[in-house]
Amino acid sequence: MRMKEPLNITIIGGGFCGIMTAINLMKDDTLPLHIHIVNKGYPIAKGVAYAPHTSSLLLNVPNGRMSAYTDIPDHYVQWLKANALFSNDEIATAFSTREQYGNYLSSLWEDAIKEKGANTAITIYDDYAYDIIEDGDLLHIHLKESPVLTTDLVILATGNAKPRFPFNINSSFRNSKHYFGNPWKKDCIENLNTENDVLIIGNGLSMVDTVIGLTENGFAQNIHTVSPHGYQLKPWKGSTPPYRDINFLTTILNQNFGLRTLVTSMNRHRKIADTLGQSVYSMIDVLRPHTQKIWQSLSIKERNRFIKYLNHIWGSIRHRLPDEMHAFIKEHKKLIIHRGHIVDVSMAGDQVKVTLSDSGSLKHLLVQRVINCTGPETNIQLSENELLRNLEKRGLISADVFHLGINAHPQYGNVMMSNDNCKHNLFVIGNHLKGVLWESAAIPELRMQTEALSKYLITKYS
Ligand SMILES: Cc1cc2nc3c(=O)[nH]c(=O)nc-3n(C[C@H](O)[C@H](O)[C@H](O)COP(=O)(O)OP(=O)(O)OC[C@H]3O[C@@H](n4cnc5c(N)ncnc54)[C@H](O)[C@@H]3O)c2cc1C
Repeated sequence: MRMKEPLNITIIGGGFCGIMTAINLMKDDTLPLHIHIVNKGYPIAKGVAYAPHTSSLLLNVPNGRMSAYTDIPDHYVQWLKANALFSNDEIATAFSTREQYGNYLSSLWEDAIKEKGANTAITIYDDYAYDIIEDGDLLHIHLKESPVLTTDLVILATGNAKPRFPFNINSSFRNSKHYFGNPWKKDCIENLNTENDVLIIGNGLSMVDTVIGLTENGFAQNIHTVSPHGYQLKPWKGSTPPYRDINFLTTILNQNFGLRTLVTSMNRHRKIADTLGQSVYSMIDVLRPHTQKIWQSLSIKERNRFIKYLNHIWGSIRHRLPDEMHAFIKEHKKLIIHRGHIVDVSMAGDQVKVTLSDSGSLKHLLVQRVINCTGPETNIQLSENELLRNLEKRGLISADVFHLGINAHPQYGNVMMSNDNCKHNLFVIGNHLKGVLWESAAIPELRMQTEALSKYLITKYS
């Protein structure tokens, strides 16, 4: 049945998830659609990740896995070749810059707009959505600057929220000019004095970006970092050969296993790999496409145990760095990594006095700036994103049981209500599905979500 009026779909967030959902919806021009994209904060298409503060920052997934389309796996590689951006024969296993990837997404978006059919209208709002009010089957979206936008469906594609303000630092420091709470904004690596050190909280991927950004900007003083486990990121390839006896994983994946079987077997093979001097990354790479299925097959208790005991180990192997970025960090002469936590922060003139517990003993630092690189906040109740906080208060969305994102249906991201019924007009996509799917951050997972959701909507409303 053809609808007379176009279906109004509003996508809040114009990063990868937002634009790829729109592009996939636009491919079908039989259903009359008006797609509204509300985006504020980062450039449309590029989002947080692909409009980096430093142009040399590399992807953390090889080019060959970064196609925006599941059914054209070499789409990004072909784009790089067509634009003469890589002369390397090993283009698929190499890492291009995040800026190049951002240009790829921009070009996909521009082409989609140029080629869109007559049945699809697109409106972009350079505005911030802060609330949504339900009105029967309609949703009224409140924007900071534009009039209320009324729509049939909303897709939340708001991406990563800023890191949480550290609970062990006096909250008055949050508004200090010495505190930089958003590691993805350029201001955190600019306008430093040439005499005093800097402290980065966190030792993950954002810390690496920040150290590279500071160094490329000419910052030559000490860069201190602190986190409970210290620096544990691994190089993507490394120098050790991969462990090859990985067929056991396929057997386990085909069985009805529990977390214990998987971890015990992996541990056994890890020990063999250690003895042979081989790397276990091959195991992780085999598991990676299956992690969502594994996660959903585990009981809540098992998932909680995974988060408590194994999350850190999984994260440190799964979040690998291009080898050159890893080498940069290892060889950095001014990087001082502390293993511990912040005990106290106070002002000492125009500097910040930080007391750290470092491997059990107290250390005192004087720094000009503290940069928070502790990773995105996943708890929607604490999120810096006003929209998510308001929707949670209104009962339109709720946190998943692990407080890693929003409670939603694993297949299409329909938001789940407290009675476990799906909302028919509110969807969520991207990193907010972490609690539901576990791995829901990188392009290989996200492109599948954008395709599944757009297909579902077209089928449902055609
Ligand atoms: C620094 C960094 C590097 C990364 N590198 C890689 C990589 O190399 N490979 C990989 O596969 N993945 C990488 N990722 C994962 C990355 O999150 C995804 O690949 C992808 O970019 C996420 O896209 P998204 O659309 O969900 O979110 P985003 O790109 O964050 O887009 C969300 C957009 O919505 C806007 N927004 C949020 N709330 C509102 C609101 N209320 N109103 C209006 N606009 C709003 C935001 O400002 C932003 O513009 C990286 C992530 C980060 C943070």
